[in-house]
Amino acid sequence: MSVETQKETLGFQTEVKQLLHLMIHSLYSNKEIFLRELISNASDAVDKLRFEALAKPELLEGGAELKIRVSFDKDAKTVTLEDNGIGMSRDDAVTHLGTIAKSGTADFMKHLSGDQKKDSHLIGQFGVGFYSAFIVADKVDVFSRRAGVAASEGVHWSSKGEGEFEISTVEKADRGTRIVLHLKSAEDEFADGWRLRNIIKKYSDHIALPIELPKEVAAVEGEEKPAVEWETVNRASALWTRPRTEVKDEEYQEFYKHVAHDFENPLSWSHNKVEGKLEYTSLLYVPTRAPFDLYQREAPKGLKLYVQRVFVMDQAESFLPLYLRFIKGVVDSNDLSLNVSREILQKDPIIDSMKSALTKRVLDMLEKLAKNEPEQYKGFWKNFGQVMKEGPAEDFANKEKIAGLLRFASTQGDDGEQVVGLADYLARAKEGQDKIYYLTGETYAQVKNSPHLEVFRKKGIEVLLLTDRIDEWLMSYLNDFDGKSFVDVARGDLDLGNLDSEEDKKAAEEVAKSKEGLVERLKTALGESVAEVRVSHRLTDSPAILAIGEQDLGLQMRQILEASGQKVPDSKPIFEFNPAHPLIEKLDNEQSDERFGDLSHILFDQAALAAGDSLKDPAAYVRRLNKLLVELSV
Ligand code: ADP
Ligand code: MG
Repeated sequence: MSVETQKETLGFQTEVKQLLHLMIHSLYSNKEIFLRELISNASDAVDKLRFEALAKPELLEGGAELKIRVSFDKDAKTVTLEDNGIGMSRDDAVTHLGTIAKSGTADFMKHLSGDQKKDSHLIGQFGVGFYSAFIVADKVDVFSRRAGVAASEGVHWSSKGEGEFEISTVEKADRGTRIVLHLKSAEDEFADGWRLRNIIKKYSDHIALPIELPKEVAAVEGEEKPAVEWETVNRASALWTRPRTEVKDEEYQEFYKHVAHDFENPLSWSHNKVEGKLEYTSLLYVPTRAPFDLYQREAPKGLKLYVQRVFVMDQAESFLPLYLRFIKGVVDSNDLSLNVSREILQKDPIIDSMKSALTKRVLDMLEKLAKNEPEQYKGFWKNFGQVMKEGPAEDFANKEKIAGLLRFASTQGDDGEQVVGLADYLARAKEGQDKIYYLTGETYAQVKNSPHLEVFRKKGIEVLLLTDRIDEWLMSYLNDFDGKSFVDVARGDLDLGNLDSEEDKKAAEEVAKSKEGLVERLKTALGESVAEVRVSHRLTDSPAILAIGEQDLGLQMRQILEASGQKVPDSKPIFEFNPAHPLIEKLDNEQSDERFGDLSHILFDQAALAAGDSLKDPAAYVRRLNKLLVELSV
């Protein structure tokens, strides 16, 4: 037994305590995954060692095959994992096994409900990792030594998974990490060769280095116990190097959990080997759920990069655009140099062509998913649709392809679910319709009842309803799809083109002519509040509406700019009125200029309210309305 010095007891970070509690109580039905998580870490540690040893071969300390060993002791009820990877220093152990470094963790923890079923899903989004050891163990000892430091600088970390852990400095001859799990008395079934072998086969077969178990050697009576022989129980070859046809779905799924540090199966994947001018293999996955930190700037993104099977870096961001940052996987290049750095990746022209090919692969995979598994695609869109909407602005070359993947709510649905694709929309468009109509707004409830939709409802024309914060901005990057241009129905002078018959148009012109006097009177009454007054042909039920000028910012963009403290260019709306509405007829016949003024301002303010805007002078609106109400009740 080695001497332990500098012993300290430290408390876990609050979030770790919460995570531990949650894990132990929520993952009970899936406890064997602890082994997958610890093997995954050991494999990462070996990858890191291999990489660091490229520049500093002395880190290998004379060699020895890189591997993971799993052993057990039935009597002591322990399971032990040992790797000869990069190891941890004392500081590493305190940080990595005492805190959670992910940004947004505290926020995430607030979402926990205490309902074990719901929380176990959340924990999936979070990733379980090292702490899963405490699902089966009531005490965990970690002995580790960082490659390249003296044997006297080993570390012993020990915890019962409650509030704290002990840490001390120990002698450790071999580089790497040994983890001893002291099994809870109800979990001693894991101290068993067959059980461990099966779990390793099931979850960790894809791990690219040997995982060894002690061979079962029958003891011969009267003879001394033979030395332990080890045997490799996994396939021990990099999964992405195998031909697609030979890899089972379950293997792809388990590999995903290892690279993505995810708990759930992926939604879809694409495995490709590229040969020719550039040679590389990629294995790309679409996760089923969004990670909790999808919108955190510092959240991990990018692929795991290998160069000729050697792990080179995690989170290589240069291979995919930002709007595909949720894609996980590996890329293994034959062309890059083993000492590539992030800086080099950003400049290397090879990377640019790989990036555009990988981007296309992902978009193709999503297209296929949308086409073949529409239900799954719905789930995908719920999780990642907001991020995909960043696409048209970022990736000009693939704009049309991305547009085809977008999903919107529309006047054809009744629940605001984003399920309508642009191709669906066009497929059921009216005869002669050569535009894609849309309306943006704050909430579905608001746009659904917008007066802007009245004429479309009357003519049975579908309108896309866009209520995500990003939508107006998104639409500023989309001009057309499949040759049909987008038209904001709240903007400019609505022209329904072929959808209006010649008679309709003639009739509209005549009405407009007959209302010229009213238009002038309204202009005078509304004065500075409006850019223009005109007769509307988009209203059937409402008396008036405010349209946005062709070049002006919409409400959403104005609000975004205002919220970010930017100056918003002044713009005035166009006041359109419905000549057939009784209120407008009344207005037209109003002799008193004072009454006319009050009523037109009320109509103007009401139109602003219906558009989801706030009133410039709400008190004046109330005063005018009350004045009319009093007159009415006399
Ligand atoms: P993740 O694997 O997602 O980073 P884990 O909770 O599984 O999270 O592990 C936390 C950290 O602890 C790892 O990132 C690594 O730095 C360290 N670690 C865990 N196991 C080992 C090991 N066997 N060798 C070296 N470092 C390890
Ligand atoms: Mg891990």
